[in-house]
Amino acid sequence: MSTAANAAPATSGQQPALIVVSHGPTARVRLDSGPEVVARAAGRDLQFVCGDRVLCACDAQHAQWQIQQLLPRRNALYRTSARGRAELVAANLTLLVVVVAPRPPPDLFLVDRYVAAATCAGIGALVVANKADQEYPAGLRDGLAVLAAAGCATLTVSARSGDGLEALRAQLRGQTVMFAGQSGVGKSSLLRELVPGSEAAVGELLKGDEGRHTTSVSQLYELPGGGALIDSPGVRDFAPAIESLDARTLGFSEVERLAPQCRFADCRHMREPDCAVTAAVAAGVMDARRYESFRRLHRLREQLQERVPYSRR
Ligand code: GDP
Ligand code: ZN
Repeated sequence: MSTAANAAPATSGQQPALIVVSHGPTARVRLDSGPEVVARAAGRDLQFVCGDRVLCACDAQHAQWQIQQLLPRRNALYRTSARGRAELVAANLTLLVVVVAPRPPPDLFLVDRYVAAATCAGIGALVVANKADQEYPAGLRDGLAVLAAAGCATLTVSARSGDGLEALRAQLRGQTVMFAGQSGVGKSSLLRELVPGSEAAVGELLKGDEGRHTTSVSQLYELPGGGALIDSPGVRDFAPAIESLDARTLGFSEVERLAPQCRFADCRHMREPDCAVTAAVAAGVMDARRYESFRRLHRLREQLQERVPYSRR
């Protein structure tokens, strides 16, 4: 893999490429022909993130690579920005790894929200419980069992002792992965184990932009066993955007399974009569805490829609 900043192009035609480092309109792209080059967006409305496929061309006059076109995305993962807007985090992921740990105290609502966001975007979800060398509180053990029962893959590991890391590597093989989770659960520690040298690479991402904006830079690393890992230190603990959740199921697999049995086709699973979801919760078939997560996301979604002016709905 060549990393020449301005390798001379073979032709002046467009070349397909993958975004491997992205920071605003600047990116490092890996041309399908092999070399990595620094490139800039050809226009203001051209927006891309790590994992995007693009068409690039070299402007011979200025000896500069331009990103001219965004190729269609298979999926996109959005977060809620500090200003409350939906902001693109990564494209073309196949797996979102949601990390939890006994400490800091797990926020299972946030875990549900990550899994829901991944499901709605068509991305697989894997909940990784880290710090297996520490005692897990009953709430975390139960929470993991409930997620597993809902059909979500879970795995217990320890970045410190190395337990479970081989199984994790096996699950990530060939995938395009991003890690998410509360601050302090051990995401950076796991990333260091999975991609040796990744920490050192941050800071010299883009020529002329060295180390200045490491928190807003996102980078795609090759996984040693095959596949890729997209990481952005600034958004590892992002809150997934609620706008992108499916209105009917909000990405809850239990709701998706039960909803066809509700009396009303447009049942919101709140107070409607003959709702299969609330009936399942009352009968203990659907976990009450998972349903509470569903309700909270539903409320957040409604609040958000009230704020959006009518004309933009
Ligand atoms: P991040 O904020 O999610 O990136 O978490 P870090 O990787 O920075 O880890 C937070 C703290 O947890 C650090 O003090 C790590 O040394 C510690 N830590 C990470 N993984 C483990 C683990 O498997 N076991 C234990 N006991 N501590 C861990
Ligand atoms: Zn219902």
